[in-house]
Amino acid sequence: MRTKIILDEEEIPKKWYNVAADLPTPLDPVLNPATGKPLDPKDLEPIFPKGLIKQELSTERWIDIPEEVRDIYRLWRPTPLYRAHRLEKVLNTPARIYYKYEGVSPAGSHKPNTAIPQAYYNMKEGVERIATETGAGQWGSGLSLATALFGIECRVYMVRASYDQKPYRRSMMRAWGAECIASPSNLTESGRAVLKDHPDTSGSLGIAISEAVEDAATHDNTNYALGSVLNHVLTHQSVEGLELKKQFELTDDYPDVIYGCVGGGSNYPGVCFPFIPDKLKDKKDLRMVACEPTACPTLTKGLYAYDFGDTAQLTPLLKMYTLGHDFVPPAIHAGGLRYHGDAPLLCNLVHDGIIEAQAFHQNEVFEAATIFTRSEGILPAPESSHAIKPAIDEARECKKTGEKKTIVIALSGHGHFDLSSYDAYHDGTLEDYEYPAELVKQSLAKLPKL
Ligand SMILES: *Cc1c(COP(=O)(O)O)cnc(C)c1O
Repeated sequence: MRTKIILDEEEIPKKWYNVAADLPTPLDPVLNPATGKPLDPKDLEPIFPKGLIKQELSTERWIDIPEEVRDIYRLWRPTPLYRAHRLEKVLNTPARIYYKYEGVSPAGSHKPNTAIPQAYYNMKEGVERIATETGAGQWGSGLSLATALFGIECRVYMVRASYDQKPYRRSMMRAWGAECIASPSNLTESGRAVLKDHPDTSGSLGIAISEAVEDAATHDNTNYALGSVLNHVLTHQSVEGLELKKQFELTDDYPDVIYGCVGGGSNYPGVCFPFIPDKLKDKKDLRMVACEPTACPTLTKGLYAYDFGDTAQLTPLLKMYTLGHDFVPPAIHAGGLRYHGDAPLLCNLVHDGIIEAQAFHQNEVFEAATIFTRSEGILPAPESSHAIKPAIDEARECKKTGEKKTIVIALSGHGHFDLSSYDAYHDGTLEDYEYPAELVKQSLAKLPKL
């Protein structure tokens, strides 16, 4: 029985898959907040290259991956699919557990899958500088890597909570030549506005996005880049699921359930969207479960409505599950899962009942991560561990029922920069946060009125 299912370099996909071509319910249009009418794509040109705007609006099923991008993907792709024999043994389960591991990229997560093409299209259109935000630091690292490879300057606004918790993520960005600033900062109007009312805020992705968008909009040579949520990002991430399908062809197996964590919703859609046609057209009996933190339960407790992508209300309106654009979640250790909204493509499929969602507390997530680390050896990111928790539960359930389910975990990254959170867990000082119902209620009362 194989432990590691690996593909040849030549099997890196040549095209990305765009799920917009296969949605049972078409995507609701992105709206201009000033007019309430569908956005004119030209309005995006001050901050995005045309190559990416075209992909953002595309409903073509397949989009060519430029050879220069595939060439960089070769540095770490195809990523391995592991059969978790040792974890199965520890759980004494008849279930078969697999994980698709993105921690082998230079930045340690799936983020470079989209950072590389984003930097590439900006480079092609002569953009000299990119501003972005980062939650836990993984997107900032991914984009710093990509901009280094294409000779573009990069500034990253990093959510204050992670800036303090994960100093080595900052060092990594610096090593790649990027500038990393704690958000909220006093370098932007949006940052100064938040600091005035909340000088001690731990920040949020919504605030950091406002700062980066403002930076791009106020500098001629600068574009903006987003590491999740947008359609083109999810399309780029499809390399994960396309590889995974080929890897399953090399086994006699096929998934019964795929678990993945969701922050803004990019790694998980990347893994599971290529399976959507199997489920919808070929009627495969496959469950897909999006996993999120109880402290920021966008899909399980949010409202499906139009909202801003950022706190300062600079972005167009997206139809998505949202906790409200000014919701600031508790500073949980899975910093990459602290976003008030989620990708519209993912929300569309959750709303249609095709993808399910579940929420978990951080202590039970770290407990599952520890079982995983002590059996499989890999130290997973706290974000990714949200998908390990229900996979272990499901495997234990199989032990009771005798079912031999095939369970897949989308393991989006490693946790080598999250060691202080692991220490807090092992020291017993990690706090669980109940669902902040009152905060969400206050924030949802401020949704834009259409
Ligand atoms: C950023 C990140 C996430 C969350 O972002 P998504 O866009 O939802 O994928 C999850 N895991 C890791 C390792 C990350 O870096």
